[in-house]
Amino acid sequence: STSGSPAKSAAPPAPEAGHRSPTAVRFEDVRKSYGATPVLRGVGLEVAGGTTTCVIGPSGSGKSTLLRCANLLEVPDSGRVLIGGEAITAPGADVDRIRTRVGMVFQRFHLFPHHTVLDNVTLALRQVLGTPREKAVEIARSRLAEVGLTGVEDRRPHQLSGGQQQRVAIARSLAMDPEVMLFDEATSALDPELVKGVLAVMRDLAGRGMTMLVVTHEMRFAREVAHQVAFLDGGRLLETAPPEQFFDAPRSERLRGFLDQVL
Ligand code: ADP
Ligand code: MG
Repeated sequence: STSGSPAKSAAPPAPEAGHRSPTAVRFEDVRKSYGATPVLRGVGLEVAGGTTTCVIGPSGSGKSTLLRCANLLEVPDSGRVLIGGEAITAPGADVDRIRTRVGMVFQRFHLFPHHTVLDNVTLALRQVLGTPREKAVEIARSRLAEVGLTGVEDRRPHQLSGGQQQRVAIARSLAMDPEVMLFDEATSALDPELVKGVLAVMRDLAGRGMTMLVVTHEMRFAREVAHQVAFLDGGRLLETAPPEQFFDAPRSERLRGFLDQVL
């Protein structure tokens, strides 16, 4: 339910003076087609550092494609994507380095089934960043504790609930110390009773000033946690607004219709 006006999360910390670009993520007229089918039709969006933007919209509207353009899992046909002021879409961009700066959590957790929880979290640290084992283990334990997982380091993914697996996936991304976190329907594959724990972790991250771009169907999360909410429909961002305005006073007929269906 989305009734009432729940308390808003703490305001994001003000960017420090002299800090680099306060815009952590910027899409400029991003276009993308699969074959002859346009999927993103000129998307512009800015996410300020330390804030959370939720993207909502119907199935097939291009939400996943938009997110994937922010860490180069997809390359836009035209337009630019900037992370911390740097155009990651420029020719010759270092994809591996960009993916360490922009963490992503998927609907399905993509954990390595034959590795322990601890190894799942330390693997990229050791292999991509070259972090020594002892240091990687220290980071992993602290990130696992942050997502509420202690005492499961030696288990394999199948010995955990879906919610715990998703929190391992979040810890694994956080271990890389990313500037930005992307979440693509991170709770959609979970049994209802496991959704809350994952949303709580995401809410906590947002409250601590992580920059987040979150595709979600959890309207209550969007209303309570997001600093801005964006409505993607048919590859276009029809409306981007603070949550109060977005949910209580949508401007477009299309968004009103969508909200009527999902609320
Ligand atoms: P959403 O996440 O909002 O459901 P997507 O970004 O996944 O939307 O997909 C948008 C459209 O692009 C859909 O019509 C989908 O079928 C199509 N699409 C997505 N990925 C591919 C792909 N790799 N190849 C061809 N079509 C794709
Ligand atoms: Mg999707």
